[in-house]
Amino acid sequence: MRFRHEITIDAARCIGCGRCIGDCPASNLAVEGKKVAPLTQACIMCAHCVAVCPTSAVSISGFDE
Ligand code: SF4
Ligand code: SF4
Repeated sequence: MRFRHEITIDAARCIGCGRCIGDCPASNLAVEGKKVAPLTQACIMCAHCVAVCPTSAVSISGFDE
């Protein structure tokens, strides 16, 4: 099954601060090693993770500009 939106986390930018995890209403983010990764691509796509990331490591594809 394909989802229209896809969450991408740039591991080179992620500093492991955990802000995105704390702000995710769907508990869809977890630390893997010292970097964060989405557990699924089937969350509610609220984009809070994009908004709170201090290093702009998170992006979600598929939205109009
Ligand atoms: S888009 Fe929202 S629900 Fe999905 S991982 Fe980011 S904060 Fe969580
Ligand atoms: S908010 Fe950004 S830098 Fe912090 S853990 Fe999440 S993806 Fe990494």
